Parts: sequence; structure tokens; C-alpha cells
Amino acid sequence: MSSDYNKPLPQPQKWSQEFWNGTKENRLLLKKCKECGHIDSPPYMYCTECMSTESEWVESAGKGIIYSFSTTYLGAPPAFIKDQPYTLIFVDLEEGIRMLSRIVDCELTDVRIGMKVEAVFDAVTEDTTLVMFRPVK
Ligand SMILES: [Zn+2]
Repeated sequence: MSSDYNKPLPQPQKWSQEFWNGTKENRLLLKKCKECGHIDSPPYMYCTECMSTESEWVESAGKGIIYSFSTTYLGAPPAFIKDQPYTLIFVDLEEGIRMLSRIVDCELTDVRIGMKVEAVFDAVTEDTTLVMFRPVK
């Protein structure tokens, strides 16, 4: 945990607060519709499939494969310039949703589509823990 974290932070909404409560406990929670079973990622105020507001939180195993990725070498937003180069990934979780995140603990030249990854949690401030992914060894 770093007290000098100066990058943009998520702004939890009432419909996504539980997700962020989960990450603080190193749990990846998914918002699942009670009517149709659809999972919205990121969590949304209602189900984007059937418009229901009835939902429950289910815990993800945090495992998936990289669907796609993009490495930024230049031109990052100011808060992320010191991180260059870094790689953003789309992960297809075992629960059937696609999630945007960042890969860590991996050489950027080793990132591959189809690579197995698992969630890791980074407590960047006292109130905020981010979800990232690392290769499954
Ligand atoms: Zn639904």
C-alpha cells in the first residue's frame, strides 16, 4: 500500500460499492441478475440484458484467459507516464464475462492471447484495492 498513490481512483457508485468492498477483502465479486442470470462487468445499476434491478453478488474464482491486450509505450495519460510501458488486457473469466484490467508479474514481451491468468489484488490506498491479473504458473 502506498500513501503517495497519485493516479485516478475508481469512484464507486451505490450499485458497484459491493464490488469494491470485495476487492478490499481480495475477493472478485460479480453482479449477477436474479432474473436472467446475466453478469454485468463492470457492475451496472440494472441488468443490461433484461433491465431487472434484482441482483446478487457471486464470487469469481478469479481465473481466466487473455482475450486481447495492448501495450502502451508512449502517450499515456500524465498519471501513468512513469508506468510506461504497461499492458492492458481483456480477460475472459471462467464465469463467462470479459473484464478490462492490467497484467502484472509478467514480462511485457511474454503476454499472449490465450494465456491463463489469475486475479491479484493491489491495495493502492487505504480505501481502494484494484484488481489486476498475473500469469498462472
Ligand atoms: Zn437480467
